[in-house]
Amino acid sequence: MKEQLLNDPVFGMAAGQFDRVADFLNLDQSVRERCKWPKRILTFSLPVHMDDGRTEVFFGYRVQHHLSRGPVKGGLRFHPKVNVGEVAALAMWMNWKCSLMGLPYGGGKGGITCDPSKLSMTEQERLTRRFAQEITPFIGPEIDVMAPDVGTNAQHMAWILDTYSTHAGRFVPEIITGKPVELQGSEGRTEATGHGVAFLVTRALDKLGLPVQGATAIVQGYGNVGSYAVETMEAFGMKVRGVSDVSGAIWNVNGINSDKLRAHVAKTGGVAGFKEAEPIDPDEVLLRECDVLVPAALERVITEKNAPNLRCRILAEAANGPTTQPADAVIEERGDIFLIPDVLCNAGGVTVSYFEWVQNLQRFSWTKTEVLTKLETKLNEAFENLLAFCDRNQCGTRLGALATGVDAVARVKKTRGLFP
Ligand code: NAD
Repeated sequence: MKEQLLNDPVFGMAAGQFDRVADFLNLDQSVRERCKWPKRILTFSLPVHMDDGRTEVFFGYRVQHHLSRGPVKGGLRFHPKVNVGEVAALAMWMNWKCSLMGLPYGGGKGGITCDPSKLSMTEQERLTRRFAQEITPFIGPEIDVMAPDVGTNAQHMAWILDTYSTHAGRFVPEIITGKPVELQGSEGRTEATGHGVAFLVTRALDKLGLPVQGATAIVQGYGNVGSYAVETMEAFGMKVRGVSDVSGAIWNVNGINSDKLRAHVAKTGGVAGFKEAEPIDPDEVLLRECDVLVPAALERVITEKNAPNLRCRILAEAANGPTTQPADAVIEERGDIFLIPDVLCNAGGVTVSYFEWVQNLQRFSWTKTEVLTKLETKLNEAFENLLAFCDRNQCGTRLGALATGVDAVARVKKTRGLFP
């Protein structure tokens, strides 16, 4: 299994990052091994009745990286390229993110290999419910709490909630986060990740002594995270000049109006064809000059090829794992780009998921202002702690953030000891 995981490029990248951090922290061999490998890797075959009468079998995965600090927490992804290595890598990153943010969780991630754009809503519902049914014995509010990720949204979470609650014979909102507000989802959860990205961008601009008003940004990916990052950066007075998604890329030097773009995407399904901007090559848009570049789509888009040519002051990693290790080395060597690493940059999502879980367990219901204020307080604290850590240890933000996360997990593993 170890070989299989290490041969996957995304897990290989996460493991490579971990090894660097473990060396930096001087972790002993026992703790290093226990922190690196996932506790549980679950694979499910998911037979589904398709609309045309056929039965199709999909494969779904859930990786629970470790449960030493609490239940695992992490999203569920629907994408054609989902495989066990990618899911295991994303689960590992969730660990370090949760501990960096001081949340009482281990990391988890799930995925189903499928192309949601080719499935009807009824097929997606049957697929989601079948996955929820198969995974029910392995999850629970104190074991594993899922949330949306690429290709899934509040509706998918509602189906999982309904399937799990039907089995339990009672309403169990604390089994899932990112669900609709009317099912006791949290106010502010939908926009939390993008809001957090935009908030941290303003903190990084402050740190560099650059004004937020009029600062320019380019965003890759216009799904949940990207669209709310665009909207919130605009609300903070920034100008988003370029946006891309699977349909193409668009550019407007005077700034793209986020309300109009959201309406266009709701109607057409993608950013391409937006009238108030010109089309541009999606690879080229990443290389245009801007204050802030926000990759908010998938992994490994900033590579050793494009990293030398980036023209941004801040790289805000809204996506998980957008920068390869060789690209990281290029950015570190350049020294002119301030990196907000993924484990901090997109932590707004899991932080508000944690708020949602706490509200559900206590039957509280907080307002959006309460939620977003608490989120900003937590992100600000993590940002300041990270800067102080990097200053003390003379290291970059990637290493600093991962080291903070890994160290907290390693200390818990050490204190709990090894059973038997
Ligand atoms: P989503 O499915 O809502 O949106 C994904 C977006 O990426 C879409 O606009 C899609 O068109 C675009 N995209 C896909 N391939 C692309 C490509 N090659 N070039 C340009 N755009 C491309 O997904 P999301 O929930 O917004 O997640 C985006 C990223 O943020 C992922 O890495 C995810 O793991 C991470 N993340 C999400 C959350 C969350 O709360 N949803 C939280 C933390 C991290």
